[in-house]
Amino acid sequence: MSWLVTFMVCVACPVPSHGQLPEAPPSPGPDDRYKADILLVVAHPDDETAVSGYLARAIFDEHKRVAVIFGTRGDAGGNAMGYEQAAALGAEREIEARRALASFGVMNVWFLRGPDTAGQDVLRSLETWHHGEALADTVRLVRLTRPEVILTWLPDYVAGENHGDHQAAGVIATEAYDLAGDPTVLAEQVTPPRDRFNIENLTEGLQPWQPQKIYYFSDASHTDFLEGKGPKYSTLDESPSRHIPYYRLAAEEMRFHLTQGDTGQLAKEAFEKGDFRYFQEPVRLIFGKSLVKLTTTGDISEGLATTPLPYAPVRGYQAVHRKGVSLELGGPWAFYREFWKAHSIEHLADLIPKPEVSITSGTRLHVPILIHNDSDAPVQVALTISIPKGWVEERGSARFPVAPHDAYPVEVVLLSPGGQTESWQDITLKGESDGSAIGSITLKVKLTTGGLPQ
Ligand SMILES: [Zn+2]
Repeated sequence: MSWLVTFMVCVACPVPSHGQLPEAPPSPGPDDRYKADILLVVAHPDDETAVSGYLARAIFDEHKRVAVIFGTRGDAGGNAMGYEQAAALGAEREIEARRALASFGVMNVWFLRGPDTAGQDVLRSLETWHHGEALADTVRLVRLTRPEVILTWLPDYVAGENHGDHQAAGVIATEAYDLAGDPTVLAEQVTPPRDRFNIENLTEGLQPWQPQKIYYFSDASHTDFLEGKGPKYSTLDESPSRHIPYYRLAAEEMRFHLTQGDTGQLAKEAFEKGDFRYFQEPVRLIFGKSLVKLTTTGDISEGLATTPLPYAPVRGYQAVHRKGVSLELGGPWAFYREFWKAHSIEHLADLIPKPEVSITSGTRLHVPILIHNDSDAPVQVALTISIPKGWVEERGSARFPVAPHDAYPVEVVLLSPGGQTESWQDITLKGESDGSAIGSITLKVKLTTGGLPQ
């Protein structure tokens, strides 16, 4: 009833002059304790070590504020310290990552709820991470941290330790970059609360935020394709404030991840032996996109605007018009072909022009294929596969009936030969319909002697 009483009283009163109105409190604005210059979006605790040689420079000597999002708590993989596994290992690794980043003064660190997902297929990781939920969480954290620059893993399928989870972090970070500035996306996040001092508000009170630049990095086993594609930071330079080289600061940060043999234990060993060669590689970034003018290899701060930028829409997905009968690599390759264009980062297609993958010698290779029939009549397509000596085709070659305006998904399964030394080999798939070739795909396969990426 109170609003009714107030209304009735007010209509009976003269309109007060401006001087008689009560003074409203000042608006607090966004909480500056969470403001970041750089937001790092990665998959696993210890992934930040891929760029910590640069972060040391940015934090200690350029006084940049850094915030970090991890997609998982690192609940899989071996434990170099003890028996703890699964959720217990994740609980340990969250603390290792927090301590490592705290040593760099980075306290704004969040963990999404993704599980570690072995393999290189980004689509499998996006599924287990509950893509929509992880993206909504990331958009929220972009709006909370308001970064000018996002650094993340390269969303691309390359040979090497190019984990599907890493790629998932890169995909979600790119999507969040493009969505966080749009007030119609997850509008509940950017709706002010009814009464911020009270409970039951149910809207989050953030503001839309448009980052200015996004850069990627890769842990591919070969780095030749990264040259000249973005800024490169030496780790040999000495930190003016810390008086030791950046590689040494990176090694100190990595040493916190002691459950992990290939990072924390490796750093510990480097200190024991006084051998820091592993840490002396430069940090290579790949330019993703920018809303301000810059040179591809310039510093990540180059040209940054000092006032917030308006929302910048991207191209978005546009329907692909095919003709006749055609063959294409499916799965993550088909996804990335359209993802890069949709998010205005189509130049990433030039990084690895020929599709490639690496698998451990003696394990199975899954090759998803799509047979498109964009004609008005049903067709039969014969798929044949050429494999090098020693390989076994378990599933693939067949005649496929494809309905008009449909696509037939084929999962080719090939067993690679065991006991091989590291080598590159070609797999070729050919399609034929009505006696005419409809397409051919060559996939470069790197056989390795190591295990699956972690
Ligand atoms: Zn990782």
